[in-house]
Amino acid sequence: MLVAGAGLAGLVCAARLRELGRRPRVIEKGTRAGGSMLLSSCVIWRHLDFDVFRAECPDGDPALQRLIWERLDDALEWLISLGAEPVWDDTENPRTTGKRFDPRKLTELLARDAELETPLPPDAEAPLVLACGGFGKRLAAERSLLLRANPWSDGAALDYALPRGARTTQGMEQFYGRVMPAPPARIREEDFVPLAQLYGAVAQVLTDDGRDITPPHVAWHENDLANTIGPRAWYVVAETNERIEAARAAGATIETLDDGRLAVHVAAAVTHTIGGLAVDTNAQVAGLDGVWAAGVDAGGVATGGYASGLAQALVLGLAAAEDFAA
Ligand SMILES: Cc1cc2nc3c(=O)[nH]c(=O)nc-3n(C[C@H](O)[C@H](O)[C@H](O)COP(=O)(O)OP(=O)(O)OC[C@H]3O[C@@H](n4cnc5c(N)ncnc54)[C@H](O)[C@@H]3O)c2cc1C
Repeated sequence: MLVAGAGLAGLVCAARLRELGRRPRVIEKGTRAGGSMLLSSCVIWRHLDFDVFRAECPDGDPALQRLIWERLDDALEWLISLGAEPVWDDTENPRTTGKRFDPRKLTELLARDAELETPLPPDAEAPLVLACGGFGKRLAAERSLLLRANPWSDGAALDYALPRGARTTQGMEQFYGRVMPAPPARIREEDFVPLAQLYGAVAQVLTDDGRDITPPHVAWHENDLANTIGPRAWYVVAETNERIEAARAAGATIETLDDGRLAVHVAAAVTHTIGGLAVDTNAQVAGLDGVWAAGVDAGGVATGGYASGLAQALVLGLAAAEDFAA
């Protein structure tokens, strides 16, 4: 069994396959294993209440959402049984439940023998698990947005599966992302979390030519704002905060207006795509025998909103392995 992608989805799938007596081969396009998980806050979570999950991600596939919501707690226990040690036993968010891990340790635990710098060959044969992390890089380039993710996830799973009869879900234009300081701010991978400009709910939002696009409501995660503002905007606020000062230190453009308010030049950044390949609850790609899609290569989970990409990777990685080995 070939597993393409050594992010959380691919690594979990391979670990479970080994546990079930199979010998997967894991290939990874990048120079390191861990995918975007390695750069992440590594909080693997679900909504506390399934109805809230549905309400927040209304266009997702209810069966897939139910699978992730119902399996996540056991999946986290499985991860712990392999030797993963949570650094938080809960998410510190009253809307959600889950665990936080150290992404470096989790990668070390799971990434045994991934073959690095080995992209999915276009003529790869089934059985195959696609776990290439969606097409964030491609979407960011098409829309002139920043990329806040591993630099390799560029739609390889779509390129492989669509010509062979797979189909995509709704929401191919949507992404999970954050609003970041716009260039010339320097954003290194280790700045992806601390430089997120997460105060959009209290900001007036202006376009570059001064049009007021402040939405009437901003969701708690501010992912809706990231999807709204486009390549550049200004966040105007009455007073500074830690994140603005971090942006200033990174070289962001911050102006003081005549009325004393601060205007921070910001840009939307793509972390991962929300649309993807249509899969069933065994993570099998619809219309394509012997091919599974795990993690954010699969669409239909967070459509219309925001949910944990790591939960999607963990549960679909397990589902793919178990279905193949059954
Ligand atoms: C800064 C940051 C913070 C985040 N915080 C959280 C959080 O706290 N909680 C949460 O749930 N989510 C978080 N996320 C999102 C989360 O990291 C992703 O949703 C998750 O890692 C997706 O897992 P994946 O395995 O599907 O894809 P990825 O992690 O993207 O892994 C895909 C892998 O496939 C490889 N690949 C790409 N193309 C090919 C190819 N052609 N052949 C072979 N390999 C290929 C890539 O190099 C990569 O290693 C965060 C992300 C970032 C960047």
